Amino acid sequence: MTQTALTGLVTPPRLPAGTLRIVPLGGLGEIGRNMAVFEIDGKLLVVDCGVLFPEETQPGVDLILPDFSYIEDRLDDIVAVVLTHGHEDHIGAVPYLLKRRSDIPLVGSQLTLALIEAKLQEHRIRPYTLTVEEGQVEKFGPFECEFVAVNHSIPDALAVFIRTAGGTVLHTGDFKMDQLPLDGRITDLRHFAKLGEEGVDLFMSDSTNADIPGFTTAEKEIGPTLERLFAQASKRIIVASFSSHVHRVQQVLDAAAKHNRKVAFVGRSMVRNMAIAEKLGYLDVPAGLIVDIKNIDNLPDNRVVLMSTGSQGEPMAALSRMANGDHRVVVGDGDTVILASSLIPGNENAVFRIINGLLKLGAT
Ligand SMILES: [Zn+2]
Repeated sequence: MTQTALTGLVTPPRLPAGTLRIVPLGGLGEIGRNMAVFEIDGKLLVVDCGVLFPEETQPGVDLILPDFSYIEDRLDDIVAVVLTHGHEDHIGAVPYLLKRRSDIPLVGSQLTLALIEAKLQEHRIRPYTLTVEEGQVEKFGPFECEFVAVNHSIPDALAVFIRTAGGTVLHTGDFKMDQLPLDGRITDLRHFAKLGEEGVDLFMSDSTNADIPGFTTAEKEIGPTLERLFAQASKRIIVASFSSHVHRVQQVLDAAAKHNRKVAFVGRSMVRNMAIAEKLGYLDVPAGLIVDIKNIDNLPDNRVVLMSTGSQGEPMAALSRMANGDHRVVVGDGDTVILASSLIPGNENAVFRIINGLLKLGAT
């Protein structure tokens, strides 16, 4: 046995034949950089490969990756990387894994793969991919994976049920229990029940705010709130949300269309992701609604909505730079800023700093 200097942990013993081992390389007990390695008979299946964004106490750090050291010498044993959904904390580290071995197959839903492919293109990597959908069963070496529809704050999320000779695991990915999602695609509890009858040896489940009793706000309840705020606004409206929250953006587009405003996407990931979502049919964009950010100065203030990144206070994102007066969009007196996203635990200081900055500029 060897000890790693960093953690003092010992290397686990050799895995007996037919035994399943699960090693989280990130995401366990923390928000972000989700990555789990399933291991049996010398082969590895990876579920998710995300990043963690640095906190304000970590200056100079761009991204925090999962700890790849456990698999560094075993990259050729990886049979596939299953991606449950397209959030950064689930796909963001894929380019850094593929830089080590570029032909690891990526498995995920249509939208998830489209988002990671766009990201990989920026790294000049063309991945091997397999698109799957709910109900589909695929075999990767000693792992058989069955995919289950789950609802989340990004479309097309999947849970994965993993069958191996050493046991079965249901890995939910992130999920929500919204019974009225915009796309009608709810978390498939009947499918879960069927797998339960077959037998689940291990249930791995993750859902933000799972410790808070009660129900989460249904996505459809956001629309009327947006409408009310749009009706009150007399100047420009700036809405910030996750650049992957297609259904939230959809409701902003709908409210804008209703109130005769044009929408400009602001922030690189917002522009990129919404182009993908529209192309694949996840986002319904009324004709003539979208304008380029370069052209908004030609429109009266009360005809403009800016759909922006930066709702979590990310320092380089568009909203943060607007709050610092460091963006081409100059926020002024009477503009309305809507943070259309819940606050991820840990981002409080950064978000309130932005709110302070925007208030000082005169925004509502
Ligand atoms: Zn997620």
